Amino acid sequence: MSQRISILPESLTNKIAAGEVVERPASVIKELIENSLDAGATEISVAITAGGRRKICVTDNGHGMSREDALLSLERHATSKIRVDSDLENILTLGFRGEALPSIASVSRFSLTTREAESLEGTEIIIEGGRVRDVRACGMPTGTVICVEQIFFNLPARLKFMKSAETETGHVGDVVARMAVSRPDVAFSCTSDDRELLRLQPSDLQRRLAQVVGRESSRNLYPVTGGDEYTAISGFISAPALVRSGTQSIYTYINGRFIRDKVVQHAVMQAYRGVIDRGRYPVVALFIELPPGEVDVNVHPTKHEVRFRRQSAVHDAIQAAIAEVLRRSPWLPPPPAVIAAAQESTGQAYRERIAAAAQASLAMPPQRGPEILYSAGNSVLPVASTGNTSPNNATVREPDTPFQPEPPQQQATGYFSSLAVIGQFHSEYILCQADAELVIIDQHAASERVAYQRLKQQCHSGSIESQRLLFPETVELSFSEVAVAVRFRDDLANIGFELEPFGGTTIMVSAAPRIVARKNPTLLIRDILADLERFGTSAAFTEAQDSLLSRIACHSVIRGVHLLDNRQIKELLQQMDQTDFAASCPHGRPVSHVVTLAELQKIFKRT
Ligand code: ADP
Ligand code: MG
Repeated sequence: MSQRISILPESLTNKIAAGEVVERPASVIKELIENSLDAGATEISVAITAGGRRKICVTDNGHGMSREDALLSLERHATSKIRVDSDLENILTLGFRGEALPSIASVSRFSLTTREAESLEGTEIIIEGGRVRDVRACGMPTGTVICVEQIFFNLPARLKFMKSAETETGHVGDVVARMAVSRPDVAFSCTSDDRELLRLQPSDLQRRLAQVVGRESSRNLYPVTGGDEYTAISGFISAPALVRSGTQSIYTYINGRFIRDKVVQHAVMQAYRGVIDRGRYPVVALFIELPPGEVDVNVHPTKHEVRFRRQSAVHDAIQAAIAEVLRRSPWLPPPPAVIAAAQESTGQAYRERIAAAAQASLAMPPQRGPEILYSAGNSVLPVASTGNTSPNNATVREPDTPFQPEPPQQQATGYFSSLAVIGQFHSEYILCQADAELVIIDQHAASERVAYQRLKQQCHSGSIESQRLLFPETVELSFSEVAVAVRFRDDLANIGFELEPFGGTTIMVSAAPRIVARKNPTLLIRDILADLERFGTSAAFTEAQDSLLSRIACHSVIRGVHLLDNRQIKELLQQMDQTDFAASCPHGRPVSHVVTLAELQKIFKRT
């Protein structure tokens, strides 16, 4: 029987970023999948019950462990992945800290069963709260099965921090999806309470992405390649029309490891600056490969953060690679079939490629990316900011009208309707006169306020007016977002949304609040789910309601410049009078501003 694992000397463990990695079921699963991938598995299956709170099992067909190694693997700082200090500079495996298994085993009822190809029998080790209860021989195929039951059973304080089963399931789904994108060559499956969340056959990156981000979204993805003498960049990025409300669809990997790094994220967002609205995020799967000496993954115990030796060079290489695709705008003509060439980016070959990159690092001529491509407000793309995100969508929508075509119920007489309209300034502001005052109205803020007030009134008197969509809209989400949608389904129905899970990470929206029913609800739903996810607790909905109504109001009106005729201006002023009109729009921006004659005279030095 072979022995690969040894305990790291203290001099080395002192150099390893310390800290807890077991936070919730999803973090346990991340550690276990990393181990399976490091063990060369080509098939990994995850099964959870009650969101992983009751049970987590991860089964792989990797190289397994001998009996001695299996016992050693449960000791702290026991690893087969590094041995001496200098190995820290050359990490090619996902793990290296030797802490995951003992940490997990100390806070759960844990079993490890494993067999190496060369042994006749496997080993089963049972541990409870860190104490070995049993070690026995067992029959099994080559590979490893780790089951974690009743996580935190001995740490009631931690137990309290776990969320509902659906929420935890959402996080587990997202973790498996992220890791599955990093290795399209490996088969993954994930079941939750015997329901299948994911079943992914070995594939290429493009197909894997389609399964993870959704087929519709994946049609808007375009290959990206680039880099410089140290960095190789590849993957897929979305057309600016495909946006999400959060960063959860930005998948970035350094040498095959999923990371969430500020520098990388900033580079991605810089490239998209000016082509997508603020607060919107693209869908991106980006693989950055560089010699291991160029990047330090030993910064944080979860290894999600990294430090680059040449931070700004990496940043610029990423930004240039993405900006180049945006400049070419391959979505403008009929989208070409996405080429398979960009797909050899991931998979088991990554180690070889890193080695090759290291070798070639001196030989490769530097590639210069384009200089500045965009500045804010100078978009080269015809991007609509009205929320229509799927150009291929068959739904027929009426053209947007600036204000909801609801005529005032009765002729209101009030401050705003009594103003004498002078006209419109810059297609954004309405200028009016009231005696010796010039009244300037921000038409967008005003119509948003009108819509918000109308929604609030409807909410007060029962529920928001809802309208069936002519064609139900499918919306592709992350696992966590689906969990939020399911959890708040009844509350969302009260504010006019009818939605139901449509399998995997898709939901179907069949009705929306009437004031937004003519628009594509995709972006609004994403925004609302992101808001709810941020609020988090079960009491969230009532607390979040006002901000959700202001979201809906915001989506119901047109942003930016918009030419209005006199009748439309009058109509808006009437509506403003019917509204309980606080001086600001729901975002807290002022709606109107008064310049007095005296102020003008002062400007012109007439006093
Ligand atoms: P690390 O991955 O940082 O080395 P872990 O505590 O996660 O630390 O695992 C300890 C050791 O146990 C690993 O180095 C590896 O040798 C072994 N091991 C863990 N999981 C598996 C697995 N699924 N298959 C084979 N070996 C494994
Ligand atoms: Mg590990």
